[in-house]
Amino acid sequence: MAATFDEIGKALREHQQFVVLGHVRPDGDALGSQLALGLSLKQLGKNVLIWNEEGVLEKYSFLPRAELLTKPPATAQHFDVVVALDTAIQNRLGNTLAAIASAKLWINIDHHVSNPGYGDLVLIDSDAPETGEIIFRLIKSQGLPMDHDIAENLYAAISTDTGSFQYPKTSARTFEIAAELVRDGDLDVGRISQQLYENYPRRRLELLRELLRTMRFSECGQVATFTLSLNTAAELGVIPEDNEGLIDHLRAVHGVIVAAFFEELSDAKVRVSMRSKDEMIDVCAICQKFGGGGHALAAGARVRGTLEEVEQKVLEETGEAVKRACIS
Ligand code: 5GP
Ligand code: MN
Repeated sequence: MAATFDEIGKALREHQQFVVLGHVRPDGDALGSQLALGLSLKQLGKNVLIWNEEGVLEKYSFLPRAELLTKPPATAQHFDVVVALDTAIQNRLGNTLAAIASAKLWINIDHHVSNPGYGDLVLIDSDAPETGEIIFRLIKSQGLPMDHDIAENLYAAISTDTGSFQYPKTSARTFEIAAELVRDGDLDVGRISQQLYENYPRRRLELLRELLRTMRFSECGQVATFTLSLNTAAELGVIPEDNEGLIDHLRAVHGVIVAAFFEELSDAKVRVSMRSKDEMIDVCAICQKFGGGGHALAAGARVRGTLEEVEQKVLEETGEAVKRACIS
């Protein structure tokens, strides 16, 4: 059921046992939003667990109180409230789902247009560039606790999911929220940015070198792709989080409208990650055809098949979409 900030605020105050979840292959928005809401609830005196299938990633281990983010336990637990953040579809909560024995209430807070609205209280704002902005508004409108650590987590969520305040949904409100977080949390923006964007392991660049070797462009140069096989990933010793953001190198090329990245997974599936530079080409719609979802300009899917098969099918759909949009 669609819910207001007030309804969600009331539910948060009325209950005691919480678990805050985020999506598999988490990004800064998922982890930052999870920590921010979790910390605010803890300060209210609630019992809060914060779970993610991957726990905390090396890359985001600098986030304040990151140690609170854990993998779900083997034994399922009972909760009053489950809060799912930034998760377009329930099964993207991964193995955290199996660790929930029961819950009186499910709250779903997200900004993905493809979110079907699972849960009892649902707040989806697809105009928000990130879930962090929605959590900020929830905390402010309901008078929930805010401090330096919460502000830094929200700033990291906002900075990462707007591509450092560059993506089209970035609005005056986004800058106003960021300014308020910097001011109220007395944040060191330079340090946070350095930890987010200038702190990668060397193997990430070595991965980029290999990806660029596989780079291909469509005839007119509007669609650019690269691929990662399990073999190459093993040879380089890369871990899944290493490839976050590398697709931006393809999108950044003049003339490219759609970028696609194909990553072979160990379960006979391929992870497809897509970006678009033009609202006329909705990559969410393309990914939905393969069981995925996301946003119009950034979407993904996990598709059964080999790298070659999946790449061919997705590029066929993409070619059609480019043709329909008559972009030349
Ligand atoms: P990324 O390409 O960075 O993995 O994901 C881009 C966007 O698409 C994210 O907002 C992410 O939540 C969404 N997304 C990625 N993969 C999937 C998927 O398999 N299913 C759905 N529903 N959404 C996805
Ligand atoms: Mn997000």
